[in-house]
Amino acid sequence: MLLDYAKYDRERAAESARANFRRRRFDEGTFACDVCEWSPPAVIMAMGVPRVLQAHHIVAVSAGGHDTDENLLLLCPNHHAIAGALRRKFTQRDALLEALRRSTEHADA
Ligand SMILES: [Zn+2]
Repeated sequence: MLLDYAKYDRERAAESARANFRRRRFDEGTFACDVCEWSPPAVIMAMGVPRVLQAHHIVAVSAGGHDTDENLLLLCPNHHAIAGALRRKFTQRDALLEALRRSTEHADA
C-alpha cells in the first residue's frame, strides 16, 4: 500500500510537539508525572532516555486534538497506559486527571 503522506506528516508533527513539550517541562523543572509526580531517577536521565516520561494528548490529534499545553499531559508509563485506555471516555483535562488519580488509589481495607 502506498504511504499516506498527510497522515505521516501529522504523526511526525505530533511526535515533535510531544518532544518539545517534554523538553519544555524539563527546562521548567516540572519533569514529573502529572498524576503521581514520579520522575525518572538520575541514572535513567544520565542514560539519555527522557522518554520514560511520556507526553499524552488528551484529545488525540487524529480526533482533532491540538498540540497545545492545554491538550497535553506528562505521564509516567503506568499512567500513560491507563490514559490511553480512558481516552474515549474523558476528553476534559480535569476529569481525566481525576480518573487517573482514582485508577491507582489503593483501597485501605
Ligand atoms: Zn504516574
